[in-house]
Amino acid sequence: MGQTFCYLKLFCYFCVKFCFSMLRFLSFGSGSSGNCYLLYTETDSLLIDCGVGVRLLNKHFHNYGLQLSMIHNVLITHDHADHVKSVGSLSGARQVPVYATQKVHQGIGHNWCVRRKIEQPLVRFVEKDVTVQVGEFAVTPFEVPHDSSDCVGYLIGHNDVSFVLVTDCGHITDGIRSYISKANYLVIEANHEPEKLKSGPYPKYLKQRISGPMGHLSNEECARALAENATPGLRHVWLCHLSDENNHPELARKTIESILRDSGIVAGKDFGLEVLKRKTPSEIFELK
Ligand SMILES: [Zn+2]
Ligand SMILES: [Zn+2]
Repeated sequence: MGQTFCYLKLFCYFCVKFCFSMLRFLSFGSGSSGNCYLLYTETDSLLIDCGVGVRLLNKHFHNYGLQLSMIHNVLITHDHADHVKSVGSLSGARQVPVYATQKVHQGIGHNWCVRRKIEQPLVRFVEKDVTVQVGEFAVTPFEVPHDSSDCVGYLIGHNDVSFVLVTDCGHITDGIRSYISKANYLVIEANHEPEKLKSGPYPKYLKQRISGPMGHLSNEECARALAENATPGLRHVWLCHLSDENNHPELARKTIESILRDSGIVAGKDFGLEVLKRKTPSEIFELK
């Protein structure tokens, strides 16, 4: 593949370097039935959240010509089951270190949905707003308000590319705004449409939890965060963690496109906009 970037059609040093350092992104599931994302190059990889069963994940990897053995490290956002249910099994079977805040690790330890626990030697702690080098990736966790033991988003730097993930977010804080403004590529939650949530079948306490400041981000809140904090450096946005009951991919896209348009931003022109599917893996995106 490297040759295609070389005018001399030679497998030169620069082409090899470019090819081997190309960052790719893939989603294996996004939403309450399981979240799992992969960032990888030819030589390293990070799995972000582990809410898809290992057997299914193995099948997905296989379908893309990838192997679970390529996973070098795992990052966890928070300890809700849809983000961690298979983390102990995956980590233990391949002796893969798992990075999370101390509170999230404690939460995983107490979560009965995580049947196989993370082995102690594989536990790695991260601190909010402190950058750690994880293989080829510079990883900075940051505070995200949510009703788990603790919750973080991640800024992940690889060469000149910055990737930011914000999921399970009750409301947008100044800290989150500043991280969004650093993103070239952004995964951000667009969980629900308030009217659909209000008129839907969920019990009152659950409606209040979802729409509350420690719950999930609505389409409108997501759009405002984008409109107010996107920079010219932002190239692509993926909407994640859409609710099956309280949202719809087309509704999320149209609502967000319309709010962006009112702010003078044209999705598809100023930056790409895509909805991640709940249970179906995405295509492989190249982050250049
Ligand atoms: Zn979740
Ligand atoms: Zn959650």
